[in-house]
Amino acid sequence: MAKYKEANLQTVIDTIRSYYPEGNLDIVRKAHQFAEKAHEGQMRSSGDPYIIHPTDVAQTLAELHLDLPSVITGFLHDTVEDTGVTLEVVEKEFGKDVSELVDGVTKLNKITFRTSEEKQAENFRKMFMAMAKDIRVILVKLADRLNNMRTLEHMPNHKQRATAQETLDIYAPIANRLGISWIKIELEDLCLRYLHPDIYYRLAQTISKKKRERESYIETVCHILEEKLKEYEVQANVTGRAKHFYSIYKKMERRQVELDDMFDIFAFRIIVDNITECYKALGVIHATYKPVPGRFKDYIAMPKANNYQSLHTTVIGPSGERVEIQIRTQEMHSVAEQGIAAHWRYKEGKFDMRSRDNVDWVNRLLEWNKDLKDPNEFLETVKIDLFAEDVFVFTPKGEVKELSHGATPLDFAYAVHTDVGNRCVGAKVNGQIVPLKHRLKSGDTIEVITSPSQTPSKDWLKIAKSSRAKAKIRAFIKTQERVRALEIGRELLDKALRPYDRSISKVEKSGDLLKAAQDRGLRTAEELFVGLGYGRYHEEHLIPLLVPKEILEKKAKEASDGTPPAEDSFLKKVFKSATRRSESRNAISVAGLDDVLIRFAKCCNPLPGDSIAGFITRGRGVTVHLANCPKAIDSDGDRKVDVRWNLSQKTPFKRQVRIRILSMDEPGLLAIMSQAMSALGVNITSANIRTTKDKKAVALFDVEVNDLAHLQKMTSTLEGKKGVISVERLRS
Ligand code: MN
Repeated sequence: MAKYKEANLQTVIDTIRSYYPEGNLDIVRKAHQFAEKAHEGQMRSSGDPYIIHPTDVAQTLAELHLDLPSVITGFLHDTVEDTGVTLEVVEKEFGKDVSELVDGVTKLNKITFRTSEEKQAENFRKMFMAMAKDIRVILVKLADRLNNMRTLEHMPNHKQRATAQETLDIYAPIANRLGISWIKIELEDLCLRYLHPDIYYRLAQTISKKKRERESYIETVCHILEEKLKEYEVQANVTGRAKHFYSIYKKMERRQVELDDMFDIFAFRIIVDNITECYKALGVIHATYKPVPGRFKDYIAMPKANNYQSLHTTVIGPSGERVEIQIRTQEMHSVAEQGIAAHWRYKEGKFDMRSRDNVDWVNRLLEWNKDLKDPNEFLETVKIDLFAEDVFVFTPKGEVKELSHGATPLDFAYAVHTDVGNRCVGAKVNGQIVPLKHRLKSGDTIEVITSPSQTPSKDWLKIAKSSRAKAKIRAFIKTQERVRALEIGRELLDKALRPYDRSISKVEKSGDLLKAAQDRGLRTAEELFVGLGYGRYHEEHLIPLLVPKEILEKKAKEASDGTPPAEDSFLKKVFKSATRRSESRNAISVAGLDDVLIRFAKCCNPLPGDSIAGFITRGRGVTVHLANCPKAIDSDGDRKVDVRWNLSQKTPFKRQVRIRILSMDEPGLLAIMSQAMSALGVNITSANIRTTKDKKAVALFDVEVNDLAHLQKMTSTLEGKKGVISVERLRS
């Protein structure tokens, strides 16, 4: 890849002049000078003076044709974080708009995505909220990341990989979602270079090897296409180029082919004057060359979520090779390249930067943020949306709905209206009745079948694919469970009060109930009922707060006089003290609860040391899942409690896990493996071995280990034995 061209103050000024000819740019010069002084003496890892970095960031922002405050923020974006400059000084010198942008970027910089999963989710949320507040902040951040990726070669190896992975996971998809394809492409290619250098350099070599041959091929095809179009009086500009490395790499991966087999490394682009000409050009191409079935896509009639528009087709071209062609107007082209930034052009004496017309996606995030309180759920939701490909379907009236890849009638129903989703029992797709889990295809016409008695269920979370539908289903289930918990809680407390001649309404009127709630940090009595219903609190612990002292004393005296206690609560107490001694309880501490039964979820079988999440289950205490177990993610966030391993406890308690060992089928190997395990203090409770046709052995062991570290030690010891191929922990 060609080294990027280094920017300087003059290139930035020239770029701004190209779209803002009459503007007074003194303030831009001042920003450059200000940054240069602030960063004086600082160096980048490359040994270059620091100012080169903010200048390149400002250059990128100017190339996106952004307004002056954005470009100025490009120059200043690292001053508050890395130098003695304060936000107050920035505001005094450059105004409130700039100081707010710098503040936004500084806050974003504090967010890293390499921390624990929980924290990452929260960080993701913060970033998207910053984005929704002022999209320019994220554009500055993208420009910042672009320069960091361009200069990544000066970083140590492990840092290169981490930064590239983060860029590929987060920043390239954001650039794509905002439609800024040139940044997305450059970021992806740079990521490939650091994450898969072997593939990157092989691609670079192959493409440059037959450079002359390929150039003349591109030239020939362009010429032929131009001539054909001219013949039919279509004014067009035809260009061709090799596709970007990362997209070739993805294609190789998807089709499992080697580079030499890939004909479609090239793509051709036809730019015409208006939409009618687009379809006319398509007609000419299809009349001349045979189209490859299934490759035609009309993104003009159905634009992508990021507003991308074009006609795509693949034909068997002039020399019998597959040729990919995109057809679009000049305006579509600028949206395709600049995305969201294309709509914020300088016009009629001002920049229209705050327009939210094209930020539907960001607005949707704000809505989810209200619905989804748990950061993990939010992350899951955003991820689905960020990486989804689109499916376009129709309502019976011909209205287009955009859904994510793999969408089902449920997703469609929720896209129409939340109530339609909640009442959905099935659908007719192209006139045929289909089940809820049917997968929709682009072009389908869908009619939702509803029933007034239908309500969403947990299973729906497995069927729905879109983030919107999932969020709405979760919200419904949550409300429903809360109502149920509230009823149960009321009943439990009422029952517990009865022996003391009290009732809910009595303690409500006296104000004691509210006091008891506030005592637990709750605002309303209702929240206390919900907590009781979910088992977060015990009704008996509330009695001393709700029953007058005299009555309590009287009851206590009656009890010591030999009056038997109420049979129900007596049994419960016996049961509880029995479970209190259980081993698992000691292994886990639960925030806010000190008397609770612990169960480990069978689906994911967590080990001490694993990252975990706990959920309250009425009557069954707390169920502990792996934090990333799909069941945990789908569980109601209201029931979630903080759980932690008590790793310091003295008597290690044993947990059972199942492992699978793949090895050569050699005599004596089984003995070696079991010896190794018992030497590490690992107990084998069952073993099952079978051999395969290709002289290998698969052993399933149920073993008891202390914790994750213990298991990992055993795994690496076993993997070190000659003849052992792999050792794997099975989840269930
Ligand atoms: Mn920076």
